[in-house]
Amino acid sequence: MNFSTLTLLQVRNMLISGEITSVSLVEEYKKIVIDDNKNAIPLKGFIELYDDSLEKAAACDAEIAEVRKTGKEAVLALFEKKPLLGVPFGIKDNISVQGKTCTCGSKILESYIAPYNATVIQRLLNAGAIPFGRTNMDEFAMGSSTEYSCYGASHNPVNRAYTPGGSSGGSAASVAGGQVPFALGTETGGSVRLPAAYCGIYGYKPTYGTLSRWGVVSFGSSLDQVGILGKEPADIALPLAVMAGEDFYDDTSANTDVKPCVEIIKNNKFSAISVKNMKIAIPKQFLETKGLDNEIATKFEETKKWFISQGAVLETVEIPVLDATIACYYVIALSEATSNLSRFDGIRYGARKDSGDGYDGLYVKTRSEGFGAEVKRRIIIGNYVLSSNFSGDCYKKAMSVRARIQREISNIFKKYDVILCPTSPTSAFKLGSKVDNPMSMYLSDLFTTFVNLARVPSVSVPAGISKDGLPIGIQLTGAHFKDAELLQVAQAWHEAHPEVALQIANVAGASK
Ligand code: GLN
Repeated sequence: MNFSTLTLLQVRNMLISGEITSVSLVEEYKKIVIDDNKNAIPLKGFIELYDDSLEKAAACDAEIAEVRKTGKEAVLALFEKKPLLGVPFGIKDNISVQGKTCTCGSKILESYIAPYNATVIQRLLNAGAIPFGRTNMDEFAMGSSTEYSCYGASHNPVNRAYTPGGSSGGSAASVAGGQVPFALGTETGGSVRLPAAYCGIYGYKPTYGTLSRWGVVSFGSSLDQVGILGKEPADIALPLAVMAGEDFYDDTSANTDVKPCVEIIKNNKFSAISVKNMKIAIPKQFLETKGLDNEIATKFEETKKWFISQGAVLETVEIPVLDATIACYYVIALSEATSNLSRFDGIRYGARKDSGDGYDGLYVKTRSEGFGAEVKRRIIIGNYVLSSNFSGDCYKKAMSVRARIQREISNIFKKYDVILCPTSPTSAFKLGSKVDNPMSMYLSDLFTTFVNLARVPSVSVPAGISKDGLPIGIQLTGAHFKDAELLQVAQAWHEAHPEVALQIANVAGASK
């Protein structure tokens, strides 16, 4: 059996029927990763495979076997109580798993062991899922290619000369490369959707507050959310059902209603919704972007046609403030990052570089040696825009632009159900081609950051392949708390385009 192409629901079905065991699953995925590491260019989606996953899998198998003695109904009941029993998943290296290393792709945290589980992890554990390993990322989630990781870059499973995107590139590469059924990433400005688009899979960023941030290392707290990557919308919807909901430890968490996702637990099926009469807004600003690749524009036109053929009503809308999103995002994200990263002082977390000349020396040496160039650049910019001389021109202005973005996006959703646009102006770029040009790297997120600024949910869906064989992603964005409906629209798209997922899986499977 080819485990690498299995979806989460297929895996779950086979665990329920007894066709496979959790041990065989974990062993097989381990083998896929280990074999891949022997390639001249390994994917490097995972930077660590946990050594206790097999033990956990054996415990799940024992639990299932015990219940199976009492019959089929009892097994179904067990899987209703623990919907992800025996299923391994990947974890971005900035999400805390108790007793495991959590480095955020940085040198400064190379020795940091998480003392507790993030709420999202705890909820997946309660559902019986098995932490399989941690995935590569740009240092502190700052980047769009994973090239800013202290472990070196991950590679795109479709073509290894290309980036898988970032910052959750390790999670995307491992899912698209068939090394795990689903993985967690995080988003501040597009870090789940962009790698999903580049690798040809689905990537979802929830309404702010839907998933608890407790135990997730902060980058820009007012923008950060945990996201999910999978081969189809159901791979996302089921873990979402398990993880969503208010959390005592995170005051910004909220109770998003994800009922249609919860129904998968019982039905083992995710139902699409019809897009007939759905009102879809197309932001004119994005289509006029100078750097928009022709093939992406063409694929976007095809996507629009499909929605029209299904009876959706598409209208082009003017949202002029979208021209300011990248500037606004970088001022706010970097201001918050500067403040969040000040906790890494060589005293409380991770590495300590002490030259013996007092606190200032320790602080400077630890941070100078511990942070990479991109993180330092951002700390400097963040401090600059917050400094008393400039905060009026920069930070406060960015805050008022953000308020306007939020207002205008809310207004759009008074009239429309979905905002449709490409996920990124280009498909994946070659590794090394942007790493020394921060400005062009920042522009990869041209279409994604407004979503985080407006705190709405969004999903990148695979739409096809370019002439060069690289995946193209299209982004669907919904109104606040319409997460489940948005994923159901993605499901409608998925059901109508089985060939897209297949095409990409074939390309990914063939690449070495
Ligand atoms: N690429 C964007 C940045 O570098 C977004 C990162 C993210 O979403 N974590 O800030």
